[in-house]
Amino acid sequence: MKRVGVCAVQGAFAEHCAMLARIGAESVEIRERADLKRLDALIFPGGESTAQGKLLRELGLFEPMRVMMMEGLPVWGTCAGMILLAKEIENDERRHFAAMDITVRRNGYGRQLASFITRGEFAGMMNVEMPFIRAPYIASVGGGTEVLARHAGLITAARERNMLATAFHPEITDDERVHRYFLSMIG
Ligand code: GLN
Repeated sequence: MKRVGVCAVQGAFAEHCAMLARIGAESVEIRERADLKRLDALIFPGGESTAQGKLLRELGLFEPMRVMMMEGLPVWGTCAGMILLAKEIENDERRHFAAMDITVRRNGYGRQLASFITRGEFAGMMNVEMPFIRAPYIASVGGGTEVLARHAGLITAARERNMLATAFHPEITDDERVHRYFLSMIG
């Protein structure tokens, strides 16, 4: 059974754990360093990226997690989690892991269209359900980064080697395919 850590300091971690259980993976809620043992992958959920980044640093999780992803552990950031992974954040002074070669824009859809659900193509799979909640979008990607989804012309999912980022929240849908895609990234 695959053992997937879900960063549980803030945000929508419970929904990821429920989806992982549904597709036959073990989930481990990560709140302290000792929780980081023997993981096959790690998920950073949606929530509030500034709060998450601060808590990860205060709890001493930030540096070991950064090393794990640089060493190739499969990681996936949804929404706020995607902001944590990004090398560049257009409208924020802060940087977090700065591991993935993407530039993101926080709250990219503005106030009018803050939250919405759409369906679209993800990594060649059709009609995937995509809820956006005060979501960021990916303004640009580097050369080694593959675009996996777009909505209204904006990039909403990307992959670079062991790192996956989605602006939307598959964990709050019944659609298991994005989680299955992530598990397939485990070698
Ligand atoms: N806008 C939030 C942030 O910047 C992310 C929103 C979400 O994860 N639903 O952290």
